[in-house]
Amino acid sequence: MSKVVKFGGSSLASAEQFQKVGDIIRSDKQRRYVVPSAPGRRYKTDTKVTDMLYGCYDLAEAGKNFTKELAAIRERYQEIIEGLKLDLSLENEFCAIEQNFKEKAGSNYAASRGEYLNGIIMAKYLGYEFIDAAEVIFFDEQGNFDEARTYAVLPDRLAACECAVIPGFYGSLPDGRIQTFSRGGSDVTGAIVAKAAGVDVYENWTDVSGVLVADPSIIHNPEGIELITYRELRELAYMGFNVLHEDAIFPVRQEGIPINIRNTNRPADNGTWIVGSTCQKAKYVITGIAGKKGFCAVSIEKDMMNSEIGFGRKVLQAFEENGISFEHVPSGIDTMTVFVHQDEFVHKEQQVVAGIHRLARPDDIEIESDLALIAVVGRGMKSTRGTAGRIFSALAHNNVNVRMIDQGSSELNIIIGVSNDDFETAIRAIYDIFVLTKL
Ligand code: ASP
Repeated sequence: MSKVVKFGGSSLASAEQFQKVGDIIRSDKQRRYVVPSAPGRRYKTDTKVTDMLYGCYDLAEAGKNFTKELAAIRERYQEIIEGLKLDLSLENEFCAIEQNFKEKAGSNYAASRGEYLNGIIMAKYLGYEFIDAAEVIFFDEQGNFDEARTYAVLPDRLAACECAVIPGFYGSLPDGRIQTFSRGGSDVTGAIVAKAAGVDVYENWTDVSGVLVADPSIIHNPEGIELITYRELRELAYMGFNVLHEDAIFPVRQEGIPINIRNTNRPADNGTWIVGSTCQKAKYVITGIAGKKGFCAVSIEKDMMNSEIGFGRKVLQAFEENGISFEHVPSGIDTMTVFVHQDEFVHKEQQVVAGIHRLARPDDIEIESDLALIAVVGRGMKSTRGTAGRIFSALAHNNVNVRMIDQGSSELNIIIGVSNDDFETAIRAIYDIFVLTKL
């Protein structure tokens, strides 16, 4: 058995946090491949090293002096090195960074140095081999992850070492320049390394004990989820659950490698297991509730719409022509409603309406704004009678008016549209009925 362990920025923000991480890794020999993020916040008002690097590089790019800013970054690493009593100097690395900043090596290069330097420290601290991600993780000319090239190189490189540290977040382009994933991308590196090494588990260590049933800013002290499937997580992530970078799921899912989300500050907690499929029933009928505010509903009416071939396509074309993606399209006999993100839609509203008139010749178009969508997700719903009934009676008892209902064809989720003002009440009502009253 072997494991990839990825540690997020808050787990590596200080020497003290590094020590906790060291204890975790040393307590299990299977933890052979370590993927670190850059140092995160030590306290609420602190700045992540990645953000310090972006800020510092902006000055360099503008031709301004960045000595003070670079010194502050160096100080963050020095504090960790001294706290861990390591015999390590990053002098040469910082000289190279300064020089490359002056030569305008790019903001991707700048941001990547956060993980790169933390990886060097981590390798030294653990006595593991350091593998620069630029040598093993590749992007194509367009900046997209290059699977073929990466998996042609990375598996052999990993197999050749007993234990290694591979910094997260970046890799290299065909011309050798550095490219990063989008923010939070160390999760993606962890998943790629897990697939390439063919490990049994991808442990993702963070500062919470796993995934929660609902947003803790809405529900006081919500329950944790012990086990969730990739598909359930994806539904919840899409609706705002902020657990993992969404691209981190695909590499491990393809290989059937489970992800275990763990808490560096509470290593005894089991955390959440994210798996491909399971016969284990969720503790409650629902696995999780998530939602987002800020949607508009564009309702289009036309007599005999149901028999007009191509009507839906013409309507959606008006959105496509304006570069707007849609979320849901519930429809009736003579009506069809398109849910879109309000912030994307407002600036294009009149162009879209004109487009629908031109392309689909409707009788009427109505627009409603300030709506929220809530996803109630659970693999248990398929085999349980009355889930929808319970949701809607709970909402009715709490005076929430339901504006839209959409049950996904997978029967894995029910999407409910409510007004923005009812959002929190609706989530509390659903949580209460399924989790607190355990119905
Ligand atoms: N350090 C990068 C960020 O702040 C990547 C990561 O932490 O995963 O986004």
